[in-house]
Amino acid sequence: MNKELTSLIRKAAELMVEAKYLSAFTGAGISVESGIPPFRGKNGLWTIYDPAHFEIDYFIQHPEESWKLLKKLFFETFEKAVPNEAHIILAELERKKILKALITQNIDNLHYLAGSKNIVEYHGNSRKLVCLSCRRSYPAEAKLLENLPPKCRCSGILKPDFVFFGEGIPIEAALEAERITESSDVMLVVGTTGQVYPAALIPQNAKRNGATIIEVNQEPSEYSYSITDIFIEGKATKMLEMIEMEIESITQN
Ligand code: NAD
Repeated sequence: MNKELTSLIRKAAELMVEAKYLSAFTGAGISVESGIPPFRGKNGLWTIYDPAHFEIDYFIQHPEESWKLLKKLFFETFEKAVPNEAHIILAELERKKILKALITQNIDNLHYLAGSKNIVEYHGNSRKLVCLSCRRSYPAEAKLLENLPPKCRCSGILKPDFVFFGEGIPIEAALEAERITESSDVMLVVGTTGQVYPAALIPQNAKRNGATIIEVNQEPSEYSYSITDIFIEGKATKMLEMIEMEIESITQN
């Protein structure tokens, strides 16, 4: 390991251990090593698909076509994916009471499956489907997705319970994320470009409130040269493993 990376990892670990309220903010990049493609960057979905097809208006107008894509890109991929070391380390840090809360933009349920408890799923999740007509919700079971589009017993169209482009953030998630952001004196940002709004404002607001921003990403993001205090360039699993080892050595001494 090069000297500069060693010292960045050491500094990050110290800040995380000493923090009064450490939070984490994650994006699609943390799940790439679990086999889930991100939207942007290398092998990103936007290199193949048109983002306009993920707008809520498009879904309402073309539910059958949209559902075929959603099933293939999200539900079938998520079903096969398991949490990787980065998800697991964040859950362990929470168990050890070092990490207080986690805000994720992801809809893949992997933080939840890794055992994180205090999670805000800012863009919802893929565990539930909700009726566009009567708002009744259903667990997203494979049986429901056999005939597309899936329908509610009121015959309304079911939509995944995650936020599409053009939809608002669920109010409870927005308020809880705000509370966490205001409480944070250190925020660990992992695997996000910082280009999707309003989610992208979370680390910016934390910084404005005086938080120190530690960022892990395999390439620079919108944050890296603006609000980030410590930029750790590399893959989420490897970098978090190194940070965790350093935290172990600090807390055992
Ligand atoms: P993004 O797709 O815009 O960008 C991915 C980011 O992750 C990039 O900055 C990239 O450099 C980084 N990255 C890729 N592989 C990495 C790795 N192994 N280790 C560390 N960093 C890595 O992601 P975003 O900024 O989170 O925004 C995309 C939006 O799309 C989010 O709102 C999210 O809801 C949604 N999304 C979610 C999933 C998911 O649930 N897994 C997947 C795709 C998109």
